[in-house]
Amino acid sequence: MNLKFNKKNKTRNLVTGGAGFLGSHLIDKLMKLNEKVICLDNFFTGDKSNISQWINHPNFEVIRHDVTEPIQLEVDKIWHLACPASPIHYQLNPIKTSKTSFLGTYNMLGLARRVKADFLLASTSEVYGDPEINPQSESYKGSVNTTGIRSCYDEGKRIAETLCSDYKRMHNLNIRIMRIFNTYGPRMRADDGRVISNFIVQALEGNKISINGDGLQTRSFCYVDDLIEGMFKLMYTNLDTPVNIGNPENYTILELAKKIRNLINPSLEFKFDPMPQDDPLQRQPNIEKAKKELNWEPKINLDEGIKLTIDWFKSNNLQK
Ligand code: NAD
Ligand code: UDP
Repeated sequence: MNLKFNKKNKTRNLVTGGAGFLGSHLIDKLMKLNEKVICLDNFFTGDKSNISQWINHPNFEVIRHDVTEPIQLEVDKIWHLACPASPIHYQLNPIKTSKTSFLGTYNMLGLARRVKADFLLASTSEVYGDPEINPQSESYKGSVNTTGIRSCYDEGKRIAETLCSDYKRMHNLNIRIMRIFNTYGPRMRADDGRVISNFIVQALEGNKISINGDGLQTRSFCYVDDLIEGMFKLMYTNLDTPVNIGNPENYTILELAKKIRNLINPSLEFKFDPMPQDDPLQRQPNIEKAKKELNWEPKINLDEGIKLTIDWFKSNNLQK
């Protein structure tokens, strides 16, 4: 750990993508631990309101910066989350998404190497592509299309994992690779486009719930507080190989739609839209490695987490 400029010996954290959904929850945790935090974000999908509670706090700084450009900072830990995560956002400018994953990770690894910071990559279950096996454990190599509309994100994260692993091998950098499975909770944007926020917003606005395909594709959903706990535990281990973090409770999208409809307005109708290209038919994390190595497993089940998320959307966010 490089403590040269750290007069008060507080850990100096850089959170890239810190104004986004997950990044802002991570920042809350770090700030509550009285650590120093630099939030670096280009505000593509992030929002200042997610971090406004910390503006003017002496331990907190925000930098508007795009990770595709290098930057020089003095930090001890880099939590590299910058990248749009919702398919509709990362597909808006797919070339930029590839650049964010590749150049962004390359630049942040270069920074980590210079200042000898520990580095955590927010990778994704999307590295498994449209998986042929279910659940997916870390040893599964994936079934990924290199030329489809999701490839900018999936392949971007795969090269990001490769870069981390090579910085470990060549420069002995302390790296962590977190394969995040679908996560939800307060601070998702109303226009985020991911399934839980979409269904909640549609139901609260009295609209039909939009199901892609026949709704029989499966996902597993992790509540944000559990996810951040897993991220934190991972950073503080010595595990330099990928780790799945997610909630293994598995549902069809149709079951999810029924659950949300019943909690908000049981008389709402469903509409069935075409299935997007390369939309994975199944996804479920095997979390045995996280349980064993991190002593981590999720605590909040889907019913509980959805109720907390609905309450938050009701009181906060519909106009965002
Ligand atoms: P998000 O879109 O809410 O947050 C991403 C943040 O990164 C935003 O604040 C955005 O403005 C910022 N950003 C994007 N491109 C940038 C760039 N070039 N330079 C600087 N900042 C940039 O998404 P999220 O759900 O908080 O996801 C955070 C990370 O976790 C992402 O890397 C994502 O791939 C990964 N992840 C999330 C999930 C999930 O379910 N939420 C699942 C798998 C992986
Ligand atoms: N989905 C849906 N309706 C929506 C948004 C998403 O049926 O309004 C489906 C989507 O096609 C996918 C699943 O829900 O099968 C999860 O989508 P999301 O975008 O949340 O995440 P993904 O796991 O696909 O990255």
